[in-house]
Amino acid sequence: MPLHLDARQRAMLEEMHVRVWWPQEPEPAPAAAAAAAAAAAEAPATRVPAAAPAPAPAVVARAAPAVPAPAPVPTPRQERADEGRSAAIAAMDWSALQQAVAGCEACKLCSTRKNTVFGVGPAAPEADAPPRADWLIVGEAPGEQEDLRGEPFVGQAGKLLDNMLRAVGVSRHGDAKAAPQSAFIVNVLKCRPPGNRNPALDEVAQCEPFLKRQIALLQPKIILAVGRFAVQSLLADSVADVQTVPLGRLRGKVYRYAGVPVVVSYHPAYLLRSLPEKAKAWADLCLAMETAETLKSR
Ligand code: SF4
Repeated sequence: MPLHLDARQRAMLEEMHVRVWWPQEPEPAPAAAAAAAAAAAEAPATRVPAAAPAPAPAVVARAAPAVPAPAPVPTPRQERADEGRSAAIAAMDWSALQQAVAGCEACKLCSTRKNTVFGVGPAAPEADAPPRADWLIVGEAPGEQEDLRGEPFVGQAGKLLDNMLRAVGVSRHGDAKAAPQSAFIVNVLKCRPPGNRNPALDEVAQCEPFLKRQIALLQPKIILAVGRFAVQSLLADSVADVQTVPLGRLRGKVYRYAGVPVVVSYHPAYLLRSLPEKAKAWADLCLAMETAETLKSR
């Protein structure tokens, strides 16, 4: 599917170090070029100086133990309680779900968080109704800034994610002028693991009913799973031994979670440390866009 990128989108892609071919502007006629040069010379104050190379942003790397901590084995009584809790969450409307997350104490992360991080996206049309979101972006867990602000994907990684999304016409704010499609952004975990450690399996298991209900209520056209823990959560039922498959090998295909197509990509925080992978992330975005557009035209 051809991409029609305007000048702003091209600038964003250049900032991301993603090379995309587009037709070159025709060379100006000699007379026009001379006039343009003269005009430029007369207006130096309006010229934007070339930007100095930006220093590499400081990124806090997550600790990455080779093997995730095993989840405690639940007793039959605990299993029954978990089933009851999951069933109650599966029946909640949007407003009840927000309140349930805000007051959740189902895992130990509640004792160290400053804020729960429910998600961010366009405003809901009514109090109990979910917002309209074409895309759902699923990340891993809040970091320090997200915990402080109660919002996912802030800081440099959030900026990169926003730029990448805007380049394909998607915005987390649902601003139709800026981008025709809207995105809701969430994490697998709604509370920050202390010290940005990896999520533990029992924490993911306790928090998953919230993500499941968010997806059921939002009914996005496409889910973009970014990072290892988001991918492992969403593909657990569709890929055998997904915990042991490198993320790079899961890219380039369309999976399903609760009937919604899922595309796999790298976490923006990882992309900030690994510039060559940005081109792959751009390919993932294009696959997600094509999948969403194909479904829309059916
Ligand atoms: S991480 Fe999820 S399950 Fe754990 S306390 Fe926070 S909202 Fe509850």
